Amino acid sequence: MDHFGYRQDQLHAEEVPLATIAERVGTPCYVYSRATLERHYRVFDDAFGDWPHHICFSVKANGNLAVLQVLERLGAGFDIVSMGELDRVLASGGRASDVVFSGVGKSSDEIARALRAGVRILSIESGQELDRVNAAALAANTKAPIAFRINPDVDPKTHPYIATGLRENKFGVSAADALGLYRKADAMAGIEVAGIGCHIGSQLTEVDPFCDALEKVLDLVEALAQNGITLQHLDLGGGVGIRYSDETPPDPKDYVQAMLAILKRRNCDLSVTLEPGRAIAGNAGILLSRVEYLKPGPSKDFVIVDAAMNDLLRPALYQAWHEVVAVDRRRNCEMRECDIVGPVCETGDFIARDRQLAVAPGDLVAVRSVGAYGFVMASNYNARPRPAEVMVDGDQLYVVRQREQTADLFSTETLLP
Ligand SMILES: *Cc1c(COP(=O)(O)O)cnc(C)c1O
Repeated sequence: MDHFGYRQDQLHAEEVPLATIAERVGTPCYVYSRATLERHYRVFDDAFGDWPHHICFSVKANGNLAVLQVLERLGAGFDIVSMGELDRVLASGGRASDVVFSGVGKSSDEIARALRAGVRILSIESGQELDRVNAAALAANTKAPIAFRINPDVDPKTHPYIATGLRENKFGVSAADALGLYRKADAMAGIEVAGIGCHIGSQLTEVDPFCDALEKVLDLVEALAQNGITLQHLDLGGGVGIRYSDETPPDPKDYVQAMLAILKRRNCDLSVTLEPGRAIAGNAGILLSRVEYLKPGPSKDFVIVDAAMNDLLRPALYQAWHEVVAVDRRRNCEMRECDIVGPVCETGDFIARDRQLAVAPGDLVAVRSVGAYGFVMASNYNARPRPAEVMVDGDQLYVVRQREQTADLFSTETLLP
């Protein structure tokens, strides 16, 4: 469910026509719907009832300050993977004490900074990282609250680049190593053992892998208890998928209820943290772009638009499928079979392939479901300034990020003397 829909054949974001946004802000431009973000957050939050829980939005999915602010006001915490993301959370009004710090390669500086800031928990992914966190905590005269991220070795059945919970992936510690690591951590003066977690992948469309992962993590929770190590938090990561075309991902409510049913059956009453990114932001954003040219080809036609792979990388990186629609459905032009491509000098620069679209040069198109892993992956390839970002709230529109200027692109470069 999202709040992008047609009224009198004109695509709107909530109550604002996308054509109005294009006129005011230009294209390409990301447009987010506040009501959609809020709705998706609440579905997760409400599903827990009175079970103690934290919904920590995954900042890497969409780090725009206004997006974080909207979620923060609903009570969200945040899952971060870098100090840049911590700075974003703080700049948006969030608190470090609501932050989970994940990531397989935290630097010493990042660990020290996270401890100073007072993050709620550091998710640890290796024995060497444990040593580093302990040393940093001792140097800062404090105790680091930690959880180990378990790699439960389950197949999330998703794109290989976003599968993270298989034995061969770089993430987490194996169940076999976990007990020894917890024992070691429990004896360290700089470590406070607080929790356990996993995150098995992204864009999961089935509940079963989540269930399998949870059962394996709970086996460990029980083994730890038998060894006198009790935990407070259970972090199940993110990963709930969304509908891009005809996928049938679990409803977040059903997903949460499936998790709670397992916890109850196994008499586990730990507080639960979730780290959804895509399921909250994915369908809350579109990319608005203008058609530059129609270029007939010998085997198919090309619709050349002003958005490119530098603005939206997912099609090129993951062969991701995004729906592309005409903003004005009244336009009376010929439906053509086409690839929708950008101006970047790469054959991999496509937004969508083999589509039916009725548009003419100058028309607006909307690329749907790009609110997660959209702008955050934008680059300046081909010296293209990154697009503007707009938040719509009812009948109001706010430019929450100005369009980059080309001078911004080389402002930190210098010529030789
Ligand atoms: C990427 C990531 C998430 C968010 O994943 P989604 O599929 O967007 O929900 C959560 N936790 C960790 C540790 C991640 O790396």
